[in-house]
Amino acid sequence: MQSTPTPTHCPYCALQCGMNLAPAPQGGVEVSERADFPVNRGALCAKGRTAPAVLSERVRLTSPWVRSAGGTLEPATWEEALDRIARELARVRAEAGADAVGVFGGGGLTNEKAYALGKFARVVLGTSQIDYNGRFCMSSAAAAGTKAFGLDRGLPFPLEDIPRTGCVILVGSNPAETMPPALRYFRELRENGGTLIVVDPRRTKTAEQADLHLAPRPGTDLALALGLLHLVVAEGRTDEAFVRERTSGWEEARAAAMAHWPEYVERITGVSVPDLREAVRLFCEPEAAMVLTARGPEQQSKGTDTVGAWINLCLATGRAGRPLSGYGCLTGQGNGQGGREHGQKADQLPGYRKLDDPAARRHVAEVWGVDPDTLPGPGRSAYELLDALGTDVRALLLMASNPVVSAPRAAHVEERIRSLDFLAVCDVVLSETAALADVVLPVTQWAEESGTTTNLEGRVLLRRRAVSPPEGVRSDLEVLHELAARLGVEKGFPTDPEEVFEELRRASAGGPADYSGITYRRLAEEDGVFWPCPAVVAGSGAQGGGPGHPGTPRLFLDRFATPDGRARFAPVAHRPAAEEPDEEFPVLLTTGRVVAQYQSGAQTRRVGELNAAAPGPFVELHPRLAARLGAAEGDPLAVVSRRGRAVAPARITTAIRPDTVFMPFHWPGEGRANTLTNPALDPTSRMPEFKVCAVRVEAVQTV
Ligand code: SF4
Repeated sequence: MQSTPTPTHCPYCALQCGMNLAPAPQGGVEVSERADFPVNRGALCAKGRTAPAVLSERVRLTSPWVRSAGGTLEPATWEEALDRIARELARVRAEAGADAVGVFGGGGLTNEKAYALGKFARVVLGTSQIDYNGRFCMSSAAAAGTKAFGLDRGLPFPLEDIPRTGCVILVGSNPAETMPPALRYFRELRENGGTLIVVDPRRTKTAEQADLHLAPRPGTDLALALGLLHLVVAEGRTDEAFVRERTSGWEEARAAAMAHWPEYVERITGVSVPDLREAVRLFCEPEAAMVLTARGPEQQSKGTDTVGAWINLCLATGRAGRPLSGYGCLTGQGNGQGGREHGQKADQLPGYRKLDDPAARRHVAEVWGVDPDTLPGPGRSAYELLDALGTDVRALLLMASNPVVSAPRAAHVEERIRSLDFLAVCDVVLSETAALADVVLPVTQWAEESGTTTNLEGRVLLRRRAVSPPEGVRSDLEVLHELAARLGVEKGFPTDPEEVFEELRRASAGGPADYSGITYRRLAEEDGVFWPCPAVVAGSGAQGGGPGHPGTPRLFLDRFATPDGRARFAPVAHRPAAEEPDEEFPVLLTTGRVVAQYQSGAQTRRVGELNAAAPGPFVELHPRLAARLGAAEGDPLAVVSRRGRAVAPARITTAIRPDTVFMPFHWPGEGRANTLTNPALDPTSRMPEFKVCAVRVEAVQTV
């Protein structure tokens, strides 16, 4: 490793905080502050600070493992492991067709890996059955943003705009736990005289900092947004000129909102009419305002419509496509943004192109050197793909995902995975899903390889290699190269990340997410470039890498990316969650994260300091519900849904609604929250309803 610090980025969430890595005096690597990176200005959360711990060989896989005839995983050589994967994928394809082979990716993969994985599925395997865990993350916001604006980019403005706007409504987002360094933007907003409204069924650490906290019943954010829009119209706060000049579809959206009287919305959501009025006042009085959503409104079976309703509020008040105003989504996973742009999604080609668009197919096929007619069409979405394992899909190649913990209805998903003919997993650690595999390949990770990610602002970043990987570990790009060669495709899968990025630039050129003007050299020099960034600036002939396009930090200021340049209102109405409480299951469950753990916990559960801070799951419940159950703090509680049962200790707090319990979802075993969650899918985004389902809570008798 170099003795001078290497500037790079955190391996975890979508903020992609900058950090320096340098050799630690006691051996290994240590993190130091990188104050010049504008997003976090040196601040890191506990996950980022301790990230080098997951580089340690003590927690790593350092050899391939292959399941023996006796059923146990045994160490194997790379040749044996790769040969076995290639042989099994080819066998299943020959016996049952290309679509019997599935591929499952992750929002933690770099842009290069996501690109190569999508190409591998379509060119080498010829399968349509590829999707990724980002489907469970931001797909409803992506679908709603594309419908409304013609383009989805998490935030259409940089984070630095937040402190300068007048009001932010933060819907179903808890950055105090999920990305603490981002809190400073909201703190500075309030210091500058702006206001923060937090919408969350729980009084979270973020909600504690708000000027107004609205705590709707889980699953009713859509009705809440409609109620606010009703009041906007009723109080004459509509921006008529903006609506007339820059939008379409207002009359239908307006009529839908006017059917949602504040008193009706109060009955549905539990948010009082005075609070609704106060929210409208705070949002409409300043010149500029924003709505930011996260998983709360998005992970619902009506997530796309729910986000659409919040976008309607922005459009009706002229708070979109203007400086310091707009709608944005706070993406969750490290490369949640880039991961959805480069072709590992079931319906997409690189550059955020649509797989069913003939022109897009021709363009990408030309870059790939294949006949566009040979490219498969759209496949199943993530949950549908997992649900088809062992039946229609008989073999699976999985990278950077741990669905045994993170998928909805997880016990069923685990059963489907166990029923596969063949499972190959590439991972850094032996996750709960990797432990079920027939072949496990140990791969390199963030600080051991170069690669690009795209953070929640659409800022493309360069992660630099800072340390050498352990002996016995190879990169995902090498794995795809080797498998492609074994399956008869000798060319087109380079192992050098920069070479892959050069091809990605060409494949994305002219697409909605155009990276063609971005090079590794620019990323190193400029410390990030916002897409779209075309290679050629119209009329100048300038090429990317030179004095080319500057990138696009702010979108939609002149026109939206729809064919007519107008933003589109969504005609949406309230509807209940897929599962409402009843006599048998009278309580609502919602799920989320805690600051010391990340997603399925596969990495962070292996870090001592993080485990000490957050050692296991819990059931957060209101004292009134606890009293009804006769439960005291720490007592084991069983939470039972139509899909299964999870047990965890009680955490009693008035910060949650009495009709709702909360569980974090980072742990496997008997406290696995996703055993309970409902896979009811949003009809557009195919997002499962993680955020609300009906349960009953029972005290567990101990002897
Ligand atoms: Fe890493 Fe996110 Fe924490 Fe920043 S906020 S240090 S990116 S986990």
